[in-house]
Amino acid sequence: MAKDYDPQRLDVRRFAEEGAELAGQDALPRYRRLFAETQEEPGDRSVTWQARGELLHPHHVQPQVWLHLDAAANLPLVCQRCLRPVDIPLTVHRSFRFVTDEATAAAEDDASEEDLLALSRSFDLVELVEDELLMEVPVAPMHDTCPEPVKMSVADPDFEAAGGERENPFAVLGRLKAGK
Ligand SMILES: [Zn+2]
Repeated sequence: MAKDYDPQRLDVRRFAEEGAELAGQDALPRYRRLFAETQEEPGDRSVTWQARGELLHPHHVQPQVWLHLDAAANLPLVCQRCLRPVDIPLTVHRSFRFVTDEATAAAEDDASEEDLLALSRSFDLVELVEDELLMEVPVAPMHDTCPEPVKMSVADPDFEAAGGERENPFAVLGRLKAGK
């Protein structure tokens, strides 16, 4: 029953036909695009995921090929309020229906509320995991509660009256990163 599936060269239809499952736990740096969102400090961060194939309407002329994906990662980012490190948990729970080719996926995608992908005999599941997690990365990561109180200069009338030039937090961050 347990056949070997290569998550980077997945025969999606067979995976669905057999209702197979795959799971992985990979070091975060392996996901280069995701890792590039962080400060790229080596550590023991990991990305965990699991996938399950499903064939719907198996006796229909055209059964539907589905893949259900769960993925999670704890991404070390920089809080855009206090500029300290913050761990942002990312999670993905999505289901994808596979159609015959890219053109069909593109044509049907607008009309469908389902997430459509093109069938492949060597589908890169790891890339899909990374794509989906990347979409969950917040534009402005922040602590729920920053470790130390931050002076709310924006709401401070004295500050506004003084015409103080507030420094762009990204400029500050840039200097921090450059070690200046
Ligand atoms: Zn913060």
